[in-house]
Amino acid sequence: MSWTRRQLFSRLFRWLFKATGLAVVLGTVHALSRRRELDYPVLLGEKVSNPKSLIRPPGALEEAAFLSACIRCYRCQDACTVGAIQFFTERNGLHYHTPYIKPAAKACTLCMDCTQVCPTAALIPTPRKEKALVRMASVELFEDRCLSHKAKAIRAQQALLMELGRQPTEVVATTERRGVCGECYMFCPLRERAITLEPGSFLAPTVHEARCAGCGMCEEICRVMVRGEPAIRVVPTRVMA
Ligand code: SF4
Ligand code: SF4
Ligand code: SF4
Repeated sequence: MSWTRRQLFSRLFRWLFKATGLAVVLGTVHALSRRRELDYPVLLGEKVSNPKSLIRPPGALEEAAFLSACIRCYRCQDACTVGAIQFFTERNGLHYHTPYIKPAAKACTLCMDCTQVCPTAALIPTPRKEKALVRMASVELFEDRCLSHKAKAIRAQQALLMELGRQPTEVVATTERRGVCGECYMFCPLRERAITLEPGSFLAPTVHEARCAGCGMCEEICRVMVRGEPAIRVVPTRVMA
């Protein structure tokens, strides 16, 4: 069959038209899939820069066993009505989609609800009455930053000045301006165990690391921050990978 010049140009034009259409469709699909690829990690959240500074929810198995047992179902987060449980993203390697608590942002109240819903016992089921047995972390108090300890020291200074027969006006004013605190004691779920107040201590707390659950309520509530360091904080005790 022989084509006329007109038929030939007409067919060439149609092929060209189809090829251009196909190229546009393929280009659009590629651009959309690339955009999705780029957006995906951003949608799932940021990388946690220092996982070792964080703690697991209460009842968590030892780290290697926990990573095997946790099926990344997020049920513990759903059960945590105070919003203490957050999740690592896939940007955190081994830890991806596993739970953590950052007490300075939101501490655990030791309600134990998350341990009741974990389907694999990666968080060992623990009744609320046994919350004193929980060991998520320990606690550290810096007396030189604590308002109550400073007030206590000033009172001692004041008593000394009075003994020497001087008017401690300036010292009294400083004490009154700063006040005393004791909020960590008031909010500790293990009050009288992990944190105690000695008689005459002007609400200056004493912490007992061995009896602390590491819930972080004290760190969350303490209003003192000196050059980025709190007066009281939890110290992670488990080995995170
Ligand atoms: S014990 Fe309660 S407050 Fe603490 S992480 Fe579990 S659900 Fe949240
Ligand atoms: S909450 Fe902070 S400032 Fe207040 S008593 Fe406790 S450690 Fe001291
Ligand atoms: S001392 Fe702090 S971290 Fe320890 S149990 Fe009490 S509030 Fe929680």
